[in-house]
Amino acid sequence: MAFNFPTVTPRVPVDPQQWMDWFWQMRKGLKTKEDFSEYFKLSLSEEMAFTQSQNLFRSQTTPYYASLASYDNVNDPIRRILMPSGDEFKDGEQQMLDPLGERQQGNRPASRLVHRYSDRVLFLVTDLCSVYCRYCTRKHFTATDQAFLSSSEYTEALQYIRSHSGVREVIFSGGDPLTLSDGLIDRVLSDVRQIPHVEIIRVHSRMPVVSPMRITDDLVKIFKKNKPVFLITHFNHPQELSAEAAVALEKLVDHGVPTLNQMVLLNGINNHPALIQALSRRLLYLRVKPYYMFQCDPSLGTDHLRTSIEDSLEIQKELWGHLSGLAMPTYIVDIPSGGGKAALTPDFQTEQKGTVRKFKGWDGVEAEYKSPVKVIKPHGIDSYIEEWEQLKRAKVSSTAST
Ligand code: SF4
Repeated sequence: MAFNFPTVTPRVPVDPQQWMDWFWQMRKGLKTKEDFSEYFKLSLSEEMAFTQSQNLFRSQTTPYYASLASYDNVNDPIRRILMPSGDEFKDGEQQMLDPLGERQQGNRPASRLVHRYSDRVLFLVTDLCSVYCRYCTRKHFTATDQAFLSSSEYTEALQYIRSHSGVREVIFSGGDPLTLSDGLIDRVLSDVRQIPHVEIIRVHSRMPVVSPMRITDDLVKIFKKNKPVFLITHFNHPQELSAEAAVALEKLVDHGVPTLNQMVLLNGINNHPALIQALSRRLLYLRVKPYYMFQCDPSLGTDHLRTSIEDSLEIQKELWGHLSGLAMPTYIVDIPSGGGKAALTPDFQTEQKGTVRKFKGWDGVEAEYKSPVKVIKPHGIDSYIEEWEQLKRAKVSSTAST
């Protein structure tokens, strides 16, 4: 094997069968300072943060994820992702409750639906997660005791999707949808799959990272039954790629579930090209496509976790030419207040005169690209134009298909 994926040793004695039971991992989740003290030697500052953090953002982790983090090193990357910190309560450069503008009226057609981009909707089925990541961008919803949506919210969301025939993708997010039981997951996936115009279902989850035992044979059968279902997971650091996580990812892919990863750049945690390449190459080896590398959103209490855009661009530039396109995640800044995704890439163009552009490649090769003078429309395009126009109007157009 090209890479070594170490097995996680439980920090406190536990029956091996229980350890590999995702439901046990959820039930035994660490929530209080006392729970965390069993797994960590808490610093004074961490102890104080527990009392303060209850008002800002709850603390919680699985025994598995806690065992991945260092017992006594407060700078350990996993520990910084899961442990509340006094820095969360300091005034910062920019702190927003809803950085993605998901609560804005025009983007929230139903209480559990976000319709920001025309062709896809975000379906917030639960606010619960098994780990509350300190950088979470959805603190306005996650861990707010709303749990699984009510039957009227569910009907409202399904009705909206049914009546908007331009919606091609439904993205289940939260909270973490994989904290739900198999029965509920099957129900929501099946109900959405029955809507004829929905082509793709996406499930966004941190469970393969924080509780990989959640990826059971029964779960992948549910995904397969409702295909095409894409799983977007969220590994931020190569230390998170344990033997258990590798088994979970391989199970998904072996059962035909396309699996991609999105990560967040975090200051002092993973903001280095050596770490990004290590994570990306290991993921790709496990047949998981590194998809997005996000600039951390200016969510409440995250200033100490955010790095600069300049730093992130430098990282991307360093990776260019050394990491294959398959392994390279796209660097994205989510424009605050719901401006949408902006992809930033290193600028290789050095000059432009009319239709002639000069470039300097990643290793210094310089050359010109001359554009043809006349650009023509592709032959046979007309049959695709209507489909394209409909997609662009998807957010506003409403059809009565049921
Ligand atoms: S799993 Fe996702 S939604 Fe839940 S706390 Fe972490 S980042 Fe937020």
